[in-house]
Amino acid sequence: MISFACFVPHAPVLIPEVGQKNLDKLSDTIKSYQYLEHEIYAAKPDIILVISPHAEKREGAFTINQQPKLKLDFKDFGDLVTNLEFDNEIGFGYQVKESCEEYFPIILTANELLDYGSGVPLYFLARNLPGIKVINIGFSNLSNEDHIKFGEILKEQINLSGKRVAVVASGDLSHKLHQDSPAGYSARGQEFDQRMMELLRDRKVEEIAKLDKELVKEAGECGYRSLLILLGIMKNINYIPEKLSYQSPFGIGYLVENFKIG
Ligand SMILES: [Zn+2]
Repeated sequence: MISFACFVPHAPVLIPEVGQKNLDKLSDTIKSYQYLEHEIYAAKPDIILVISPHAEKREGAFTINQQPKLKLDFKDFGDLVTNLEFDNEIGFGYQVKESCEEYFPIILTANELLDYGSGVPLYFLARNLPGIKVINIGFSNLSNEDHIKFGEILKEQINLSGKRVAVVASGDLSHKLHQDSPAGYSARGQEFDQRMMELLRDRKVEEIAKLDKELVKEAGECGYRSLLILLGIMKNINYIPEKLSYQSPFGIGYLVENFKIG
């Protein structure tokens, strides 16, 4: 069963050893993560399934990382201290691959070091869950409908597994919110972020899946397809959308949204 679900940002500056003096600028986001840390603890998951935009990607396929041990550090961002390790629930990956066969390909990958899109959320959400297992998924360049369908298949397999699973969709919204945004500025960045937050609040899944492709492209997001998979997983599950925070101090939209399962 799904015992917890959320959509979270993955800025490495959220990690204390990386962010240092910049942490103040993200204090609302960090508070939201701390809130989710309590929620996930109470949800008693056996497994965290993390969907990351920066996991290994393959043309025309979704990916599942099947490396038995998964490690997390932020050495690439100058943090030589943080270091976590998880066991992978690899049996699940094989089940999912098999059940997707008639719809789209799943490529099994093997990366011991988790990408930062998986690592930042796991740092906050898994550090106080000893023995937690991890499933690490990457999205694809397939259609939006395929992402929703993939979510539905994941849900079926989760329910068949008999395990308590926490789903964490990792992603940032627009990278073009300010004049000094790393990806440059587009007025459509704000439009995308505002629209996405409204549609999430109103649980308009169909409309999220049918969002204007130009708008999505212009926004320069990275989290849209993580979210589509999560929305597929949450289909027919009763939840309350809880927007915990939204910040953009560096011109990138960081939304923390809890899908409170009722
Ligand atoms: Zn990203």
